[in-house]
Amino acid sequence: MTLTRDDVRTWDATDPLRSFRDQFVLPQGVIYLDGNSLGPLPRATAVRLKDVVDGEWGTGLIRSWNDADWIGAPQRVGAKIARLIGAAADEVVVADSTSVNIYKLLAAALAARPGRRVILTQAGDFPTDTYMAQGLAVLASDVDVRSVTGDICAAMDESVAAVLLSHVHYKTAARHDMVAMTSAVRAAGALVVWDLSHSAGAVEVDLTASGVDLAVGCGYKFLNGGPGAPAFLFVARHLQACLNSPLSGWMGHAAPFAFEGDYRPAAGIDRFLCGTPPILSLAALEVGVDLALAVDMALVAEKSARLWELFASQIQGRCGDMGFTLISPSEASRRGSHIAFAHRSAYPIIQALIARGVIGDYRDPDILRFGLTPLYLRYQDVVGAVEILREVVETEAWRAFPTEAGGRVT
Ligand SMILES: *Cc1c(COP(=O)(O)O)cnc(C)c1O
Repeated sequence: MTLTRDDVRTWDATDPLRSFRDQFVLPQGVIYLDGNSLGPLPRATAVRLKDVVDGEWGTGLIRSWNDADWIGAPQRVGAKIARLIGAAADEVVVADSTSVNIYKLLAAALAARPGRRVILTQAGDFPTDTYMAQGLAVLASDVDVRSVTGDICAAMDESVAAVLLSHVHYKTAARHDMVAMTSAVRAAGALVVWDLSHSAGAVEVDLTASGVDLAVGCGYKFLNGGPGAPAFLFVARHLQACLNSPLSGWMGHAAPFAFEGDYRPAAGIDRFLCGTPPILSLAALEVGVDLALAVDMALVAEKSARLWELFASQIQGRCGDMGFTLISPSEASRRGSHIAFAHRSAYPIIQALIARGVIGDYRDPDILRFGLTPLYLRYQDVVGAVEILREVVETEAWRAFPTEAGGRVT
C-alpha cells in the first residue's frame, strides 16, 4: 500500500485531537519532535502567568498564599496529575525535581524494609536514578546500590529493599509490564519506585489497577509544564502513614505555621513536601496538566501508535538503505511515545535536521530520538520530517556539522 499526501491530509482532517494543536505556540517552519524532552509552550500559559505575576503576586502580595490558594497548589495540581495516572487525589503531590523525589522515596522505602540494605537500579536507565541511589548510599554506608544489567527479577533476593525502574525507557521507549514487575518485586518483599517521566501524559497509566506503591515523574516533558517544571510523587494511601521523607522540611510538618521545635510529619501525602512550593512554576505546570486532562488518554494512545507506525514505515520506505536501525519495540503496548533509531552518524544528522527546523534529539552513543506527541503533531509533520531526514542523508548535508557535541545540552 502506498500512502499518498492526500491520505495523510485526510488523516489530519479527521483526527479527533486536531483542535489541540492550536492550544500550543509552535513556531513557523518547525516540526517539533522533542516534546518528550521539553514540551512546547501552551498558549494559555503566558496569560495565566501574567495573572499570577501581576495580580496574585503584584497586587495580592503575601495575602495570596491564602486568597489565591498558593499554599494548596502542590496538592491541587497533584490531584489533577493523579487523574492522568490512575491514582486517588490524595496520593499525588507536586514537589521538587524528579531526582529529589527519587531520593525521598528510596530513603523512605529503605526505612520501611528494615534488615534489607540493597537498592537495585537498571543499568542503562536514565542516569540520575542510579546517581541518587548512590548519593543515598554515601549517607547510609551500609546500603549497597546494584545496577543490574538484564533481568531485574533474577537479581532479587531477601537483601533487596527497593527497586527503581523507568516505566518507559528514555532512549529506546521500551515499556515495562508494570503489573507483572510490581507484583514480582512485591512478592520478593521489596518496593518498586516507578519513574514515570516518559509515561505521564504519554501512555495510559493506571497505578491503582497495577498495584503500584511508589512512583515519581517529570513535569516538563509530556505534561508541558515548562523548563524545570516541578515534578510529582505518588505514595499509595496504605503506605503513607508508615513512610517518612528524609528531607524533613517545614512544609512536610504536621503544623508548619505552629513553628514547633521538632519535626513531626504531616498526615498523608503532605509529609513528602519539603520547602516552599515554586508558585510561578506550579501555575505553568497546572496549565499543561489541564490540557492533558481535556483529552481522552485512550485517543492519545491510539494516535501515538499511529504516528509511530507512520514514522517507522516512512523510514523503512524512504530511508531503508541509509543505515538506520530501529531500536524501539514495534508492539504498541510495549513502548512509550517516542521512536529511536541507531545510526553511526547520529549526532551530525540531528544537527543538520535541527538546522532545517526538524527538532529531535541525540542520545549517546549513536541514537536519534523523536518524540511523537499526539496533542500537537500532525501526520503530515511525520511525513515532512522523514522527507527532510532523507534529503539530509542523501545529499550528505550532515557532513557540514560537527561530529562531537558542542553545546552543554544535547
Ligand atoms: C527527564 C528524566 C528525569 C529528570 O529528572 P530531573 O530531576 O527533573 O532533572 C529523571 N528520570 C527520568 C527517567 C527522566 O527521563
